[in-house]
Amino acid sequence: MIYPHRYGNICGEQRMLHRTMKQELLDVKFMSEAMAQAHEASLAGEVPVGAVVVMGDEVIARAQNRKESDKDPTAHAEILAIREAANRIGSWRLSGATIYVTLEPCPMCAGAIVQARLDRLVYGAADPKTGAAGTIFDLPRDMRLNHWVSVTGGVMAEEAGTLLEKFFSNKR
Ligand SMILES: [Zn+2]
Repeated sequence: MIYPHRYGNICGEQRMLHRTMKQELLDVKFMSEAMAQAHEASLAGEVPVGAVVVMGDEVIARAQNRKESDKDPTAHAEILAIREAANRIGSWRLSGATIYVTLEPCPMCAGAIVQARLDRLVYGAADPKTGAAGTIFDLPRDMRLNHWVSVTGGVMAEEAGTLLEKFFSNKR
């Protein structure tokens, strides 16, 4: 599989908007947990993407991309993390929670994030190919939908992007 594009960073202004110093530190802390999941995925031969769902200050779900192992086109990290979080709290409605994912969500996952009524999405590297949280589409902030999700991109973007690029260059 050849991925000619690079996983990009997003503009600094969007990244820094509305975030306090404390929130920025928390974002890095939780994104590091999502990165750990991405590293595990990589070792399993999966495209390295990881996600965690956080409610209050607690991680309530952790997941990594399992598309190959599960032979399931919907087994993206975000879908699995959302499913686990909903199971854990006993409701499909994840209001008040934040999802951290190392790569900008695709349209399916961005749709699931809206469906789950998550408050906030934090992602790492932007995805110039299928990014649906500001790059190609912007589903979480589409005013035509009935629920809006606040978005912060570019948290640990370089680390997440490098891991993906390394993975794909090893596959070539
Ligand atoms: Zn996805």
